[in-house]
Amino acid sequence: MSLVNGKRQAAWFADEGGDEVDAEGPFAGIVFNRPIDQVFTYRIPARLGQGVRPGQRVRVPLGRGNKPAVGYCVRVDPEAPEGMAASRFKEVIEVLDDPPLIDAAMLELTRWMASYYACSWGQALDAVVPAGVKKQAGTKVGTFLTVPDEVRQSFETLSLPTKQAEALAVLCRSEEPLTVADLCRLAKCASGPITALRQRGLVRTVRRRLAKAANGEAASDGAASDAKAIPTLTPEQTAVMAAMTPALEGDEFATFLIHGVTGSGKTEVYLSAIERVVARGREAIVLVPEISLTPQTIRRFRRRFGKIAVLHSHLSDAERHRHWRSIAAGEVQVIVGARSAVFAPARRLGLIVIDEEHESTFKQETTPRYHARDVAVKRAQLERRPILLGSATPALETWRNAAVGRYVRLPMRERVGARPMPKVELIDLSHERLPLGGLSEPLRQAMTAALKDNGQVMLMLNRRGFHTFVICPNPRCNQVVKCHACDVALTYHKGRRLLICHTCDAERPRPSACPNCRAPNLHYGGIGTERLEREVEAAFPEYVSRRMDSDTMRTPGSHERVLAAFRAGEIQILLGTQMIAKGLDFPNVTLVGVVNADTALHMPDFRAAERTFQLVAQVAGRTGRGDRPGRVLVQTFAPDHYAIECAARHDYDGFVAHELPERERFGMPPFGRLARLIGRGPDEPVVRDFMEELLERLKAAAPAEVTIQGPAPAPISKIRNLFRYHLRLRSESPRPLQLLWQAVAADLNPPAPVELAIDVDPVNLL
Ligand code: ADP
Ligand code: ZN
Repeated sequence: MSLVNGKRQAAWFADEGGDEVDAEGPFAGIVFNRPIDQVFTYRIPARLGQGVRPGQRVRVPLGRGNKPAVGYCVRVDPEAPEGMAASRFKEVIEVLDDPPLIDAAMLELTRWMASYYACSWGQALDAVVPAGVKKQAGTKVGTFLTVPDEVRQSFETLSLPTKQAEALAVLCRSEEPLTVADLCRLAKCASGPITALRQRGLVRTVRRRLAKAANGEAASDGAASDAKAIPTLTPEQTAVMAAMTPALEGDEFATFLIHGVTGSGKTEVYLSAIERVVARGREAIVLVPEISLTPQTIRRFRRRFGKIAVLHSHLSDAERHRHWRSIAAGEVQVIVGARSAVFAPARRLGLIVIDEEHESTFKQETTPRYHARDVAVKRAQLERRPILLGSATPALETWRNAAVGRYVRLPMRERVGARPMPKVELIDLSHERLPLGGLSEPLRQAMTAALKDNGQVMLMLNRRGFHTFVICPNPRCNQVVKCHACDVALTYHKGRRLLICHTCDAERPRPSACPNCRAPNLHYGGIGTERLEREVEAAFPEYVSRRMDSDTMRTPGSHERVLAAFRAGEIQILLGTQMIAKGLDFPNVTLVGVVNADTALHMPDFRAAERTFQLVAQVAGRTGRGDRPGRVLVQTFAPDHYAIECAARHDYDGFVAHELPERERFGMPPFGRLARLIGRGPDEPVVRDFMEELLERLKAAAPAEVTIQGPAPAPISKIRNLFRYHLRLRSESPRPLQLLWQAVAADLNPPAPVELAIDVDPVNLL
């Protein structure tokens, strides 16, 4: 008897009465997209013909009621586990995919994800396969004609009526299965001869699923369009390429961190590295934050590579399915996409690139709560391939991985063409009068000067809406107006005349009085992008300005249109949230204004300073990218804060030198590991009691190196009418946290409506 890797087996027994033992294996190990950490064994019946292979989805009876459920086959064993009679296992009903959706490497990667991120194997697998693939969107099931092999070998010797002989010959020579209609057309016959062939048993029918003819964008684009000369690499770029060459040419696992200032030519290095592996017939996956999937970025890849697939969130299920198939079929050289593209089914992977690796959007905030950067490094390790992480402001986790030698850090200190880094000036808002709202006098003057000089201006304010809070003027009440369903202050959106919750999107009309004490004349305060837009329009009426945030960029394509108009010079002032801060390259931007650098600084999050540093440094990098020097003005109430000071000096090392000792003192990442347990439910005391009980269990099972904090209400204590409590686990390495969770999770039963989630390496602490 063989029991693969000793994982726990659960047998769902068939009727005890079954006494015939003729039914033998093989047996399939099946996992489900449910929070059950088990591999279930099913018998593969002979009637399934080719059987079941690992990586295929199957339909099987599940549970006492034997309800048909879809699961993933993760292994096939010739014999039943541990001496159990084969007849006691339920049977696989049906195989859903042929060929398998998941290859062996992805099975291994998802098993790692399940153990690392504390989810089930089935949940991890389900995240890998896009919905469009599971639904087989864009395909149709049809009846097709086939010829049995023995007939195919001898059809020329058969004596048949002419029409039938012709139809049979056409079908035998066809490379694709044909429908009756296809065959009638190709053999120029009516359906009568085909029916006769079927009756003679010379032709059979099968039901198959085939892709519908693609209309619209092809999965892999044809030849590169406006091809441009490939630039000669700068000395720094050449040095970086030289350092990576052995890994690129030798298929070695190695993690490179390209730590290059904004405009140092990192993207050009990615392109060169990809070229090396593509030239060897391999494929590359490039992950970028969703917001950076702009036509400009995509064009740079299209120019250099013939066959690329772009996986962004606006794809229809059918398009996503088509991309997946063509990637799996080896028809794509370069896959560019957001977070989930880390699972692209490239079968001849040569390289993974992660641009802006510090971005928090690489972390998925629903189960499985994986970090695409870390999953990508694991994938590269399992498949023995190089991976490149690039950033001007690496995450401190990445920085430390480089410092201890796990990653190879490759610095790029100079901008291409020896362009200077822009000069950053801080404006201390505590000394400024802001009569109209967001723009200080120095910022206005700088805008006037830049615009007069035919330069373009970008203004960043990381808050949507018009007023960011509404507050009761009565000094004895003084409460902000909150969402009915969340513990969150509402934002006033003037254009829509509504108060909106940015957590649950609930909307309501403006109250005429304080909902709490009925005091009239509520006070509106705080500045969002909508108000900034009004202010800019009033102050610079002779220039065209546009706002870019998730309110104005709702329709697909609007983001691209505004960026194209800005590039063409039709817009002079672009203002918006961090949407405008990321990865954009506009040579004519000579002024960047950060309207409020402090928005992230006071968040209850140990990464608040890091986020602030990254954001200011990234926005500052948006200027001075052409031949004209750039200027950056940063408005802040905290000009002496090291995060802001260091960002202003483009001083990553200085920031790290300040920040790391703090983190080390409290054992926070990158020196320790965190896991966050979040309980939520409609009844606050029930949630709290459950979390208290969980704490006791954790304490009983925790080794000394794990510290436990909480339970406490989460910083956002209620979302969508569910009360939220959290516990934080911390230890020096991830292993003790995993073991502790495994020990406790096994027999944990939250009372009915309470849900418990675990977030390993949390990014969002709210
Ligand atoms: P980063 O990704 O580090 O911000 P990019 O790769 O976008 O930098 O390069 C910045 C600018 O410099 C781009 O306009 C790019 O086309 C240009 N550039 C990059 N490398 C070279 C080179 N070797 N020679 C000339 N121009 C280059
Ligand atoms: Zn809400």
